[in-house]
Amino acid sequence: MSKEIVVAIDGPAGAGKSTVAKALANALKLKYLDTGAMFRAVTSLALISGTDVHDEAGVGSVAETMDLVMEDGSVVANGVDVTTDIRSIAVTNAVSTVAANSRVRSNMRDRQRKWSELNSGGVIEGRDIGTVVFPDAVLKVYLTASPRVRAERRVAEAGGNIDEIERSIAERDLKDSTRADSPLQESADSVVVDTSNRAIDEIVNSIVALVSDRLK
Ligand code: C5P
Repeated sequence: MSKEIVVAIDGPAGAGKSTVAKALANALKLKYLDTGAMFRAVTSLALISGTDVHDEAGVGSVAETMDLVMEDGSVVANGVDVTTDIRSIAVTNAVSTVAANSRVRSNMRDRQRKWSELNSGGVIEGRDIGTVVFPDAVLKVYLTASPRVRAERRVAEAGGNIDEIERSIAERDLKDSTRADSPLQESADSVVVDTSNRAIDEIVNSIVALVSDRLK
């Protein structure tokens, strides 16, 4: 029996995963892992090195050879601090193509499982955490919110035109949920939480209660 306690937080862009997952990790005294940042780091390195994101072998080898250090919110890939670049529009527009690459996914999955082993589990956010990477997670949460609310959150964080952002989120969600390898989807055993009209504190408290219940 594994001693890892994994809480999986999956869902589409802008559903509130990072905010909820960080607060949850804090409340449960578990480590936090943002797996989206890992796919973004591969994308950033591919763009920096001039690798075509559609070149499956090229991007696969970028992922497999990447030295990645994620600490206290900073992301350093092959010695380059990409913390800001991974949030750029160029990376955001290309990341779903990179994330559909099975060599990339397989490598990220290995890294995520190793991370969990080292940290005795954690609160892990992504798209396929409960469905594929950690099917035995103590609790699987699928966070969602209306498309408009999700776009509003992104505008509040980083500015931009709301209609354009809503369109680009919808495009990314479509790519993420229709890819062949580990698509974004609810799992039969996930708890679905709509964050559109609920306060973060209340959501976090209710998830903490669910985790405590499962650990009894
Ligand atoms: O969560 P975030 O928006 O930063 O994720 C960026 C992208 O990384 C997603 O749109 C998706 O393409 C990919 N991703 C993934 N699987 C994960 C986490 C992220 O495919 N577990």
